[in-house]
This record gives sequence, C-alpha cells and structure tokens, in this order.
Amino acid sequence: MGETSDVVSKEMFSFETRGGEGVTLRPEFTAGIARAFISNGMQQNLPLKLFSTGPLFRYERPQKGRQRQFHQVNFEWLGDDSWQADVEVILAAAQLLYILTNGASVMNCTLLINTLGEAESRAIYRDELVKYLTPYTEQLSQDSKRRLLENPLRILDSKDAGDQKILEHAPKITNYLSDEAQRRIDKVVSVLNESQSTCEVKISPTLVRGLDYYNGIVFEFVSNSGDLGAQNTVLAGGRYDGLIEQMGGKQTPAIGFAAGVERLSLLLSDVGIFVKNIDLKIHVLPFEEISEKLVYRVISSLRYHLAFLLNKISSSKKCSVDIVWLGSIKKRMEKAAKQGATHVIFFAPDEAKNDCCIIKYMKTGTEKKVAFEDLGNLEKLKEIFEIG
Ligand code: ATP
Ligand code: MG
Repeated sequence: MGETSDVVSKEMFSFETRGGEGVTLRPEFTAGIARAFISNGMQQNLPLKLFSTGPLFRYERPQKGRQRQFHQVNFEWLGDDSWQADVEVILAAAQLLYILTNGASVMNCTLLINTLGEAESRAIYRDELVKYLTPYTEQLSQDSKRRLLENPLRILDSKDAGDQKILEHAPKITNYLSDEAQRRIDKVVSVLNESQSTCEVKISPTLVRGLDYYNGIVFEFVSNSGDLGAQNTVLAGGRYDGLIEQMGGKQTPAIGFAAGVERLSLLLSDVGIFVKNIDLKIHVLPFEEISEKLVYRVISSLRYHLAFLLNKISSSKKCSVDIVWLGSIKKRMEKAAKQGATHVIFFAPDEAKNDCCIIKYMKTGTEKKVAFEDLGNLEKLKEIFEIG
C-alpha cells in the first residue's frame, strides 16, 4: 500500500499476541490479491476478474461511516490496460450501486473521476506542487506537513479546511498530463456519460486516492445525501499498473475498486431501502398507562405464533417484533418510520380496556382494531399480516 500511505503510516491495526508474535490485521484486499497473484502463478490465466469480500481493520477515529472493523466488496481486473477496461470496471461499480437500490435509481451519487497520468508527468507535477506548497508549510495541517515531505500528492485529498483553502490556487494536475493521458480520460468520461444514466460524472482534478499504488484513472462514487458527512465516499478505485511489478511479479496492468459495506448500508437506509430482507417489521408502541405485563403477555403470544406461521409457510420470509418503550409516541412513531417498520401496534388505554389494540399499516397508512386474542391465532394472523 506504500509506506507513506495514511493506512500504513498511521492506521495499521497492529498488536502483539500473548506469544509475542507481531500481528497486523488486514487493512485492504488489493495488496493481498497482488501477492496471491504472484505467488500462485496466476499470470498463466490472464486476464483475470477477481472478487473478494470480508472484514478489514484500520486504527482510525471511529465515527459515523468510519469503523475500526468494516467490510468491503472488492473487484479487480488484472491483465488489461485498455481504456475499455477502465470503462467496464466503472460501469460494473455503477451497476452494483444501481442493483442495490432495486433499480430505483435513487442512489443519488456523483461519480468523481480523475487521472494521475503516467509516472513521468506525475513527477513533474509533484515538484511543481511542492514548490507551490513549501512557502505555506507552517500553515498546513500536521498530516499535510508530513505528506509534503513523503507524499505531496496526498495533500490534495486532505479533508482539513485550512489545507483546502491553500490548495485553491495550487497547480492542477490537468495542466501536466501527457496528450495521451488527457485523451484517455476524455474518452472514458464520454463513453461513461453515454452508457449509464444513473449518476452524474464529474472530472475532479484534485481527486487522488489514499494509497500510493495508483496511476492513470482514479474514481470515487460520492453520496449526495449529505448525511454521511466527510465519510461520503461509498466506493472508490483506480488503476494500479505498477503494483504487481513493484511486489516482485511481472509487469501486469490492473484496475479495481472497493465499496464500503457499512457506508452502502447507511446510504440505503437514507433512501429508505434496507439491505436486510425483513418482510415483516413490527414495532409495538405501548402508551405510558399500559401495564408491561399485559404487553408481554400479548406480544409473546404474537411472537410465538408469527414465528411458527412463517416457518411453516416460507422459510425465506423474515420477521422482527420490537417493543419500543421509551420516548413520546410521536418520537417512537418517527423512529418506526425511519427504520422501515411495516406495521406499528399501539397499546392505548381506551382499546386495551376492551382487550384490543390498533395496528397501523405503514405502507397505506390505514389502521385496524384487533383483539388481543387474534394476535395468538394462526388463521387470524395470516389475515392481519397478509401472510401466505
Ligand atoms: P477515506 O478517504 O474515507 O478514508 P479511503 O481512501 O481510506 O477512504 P479505501 O481504502 O479506498 O478508502 O476504501 C474504499 C472504501 O472502503 C471507502 O470508499 C469506504 O466506503 C470504505 N472504507 C474505508 N475505510 C473505512 C472505515 N474505516 N470504515 C468504514 N468504511 C471504510
Ligand atoms: Mg482512509
């Protein structure tokens, strides 16, 4: 990943075991895939399209959309250096996001794309950037001061507002690209614009990826929902034609991307689409005056009978029943809506007196009075929850 990358220089999740062995938990997939490629003679089978998924670990400051243990789905395409491969990989990423929203095209992302060009032009640009930034050294953030010496291009990716301000007038990589690199990104962007209509494509001259091994095209899908704050990148990738050779293999062009599963999940709940396939999501809201004993008696019966019914009718149907005690009814109702409840059951004093409760169907907004007894009756449950 490069000694000077943020991940290696400050985010490694490392510790010593009881036996004194030094352990670092896997921070990403790509370098491991490159190593597997080299040591298993996989170059016999080029080109290769590979997929991986699983937990990753980085010692970061935890916040919304940023965990120390998170998950990625990761795609790599090895052995093809054409612009068509750039397009195909980015289209695969766009399609992944599209499918996750059930084709609703409500993902509301922007595709940011840039090219880092070839090594030679990048070196010239790096020198110009350092020349520009050096007089500002004292004003740069701590991280960027370090980057200025080690990996100046990464300063472009800084999330620090002060750094951003200084960068406004910095030289742009766009002005240092070879004709070939410029033609290539223009081509890729124009084909992308034609072949997918799900998200806006924007060239972003300051986009550089966090890891050192990238060259050529780099890209990110950024959520426009705003809710993810500084963690709004859901999927990121780029070309890394030099990595395999750098790790001791034969020069092998490659491009790939990774999507953060937790961030995707946040994004999906933002647009009201849930990753968890729960068919019945029932929130039970008892009013303050209602006795807990009553609620537990009725709801335990409901839970047993629903589980039995769903098991019998279809093993793929899933169900959850949550009793939500705290907060005003209004607050609890808002929460139910936000969490995608399909039904809300109210235990209110007037109905409880007559051994009844109210079921609200969230999809249609209609309400129905139901006897407690019916919540423990298989035939009635089928009707109430439209099962089978
Ligand atoms: P960022 O700039 O957000 O730190 P990065 O450049 O470190 O991201 P990559 O290493 O390219 O990210 O990982 C690709 C994707 O993995 C990110 O776009 C994000 O969705 C997800 N991701 C990265 N780090 C974390 C984390 N600590 N917690 C949750 N998701 C993460
Ligand atoms: Mg990071």
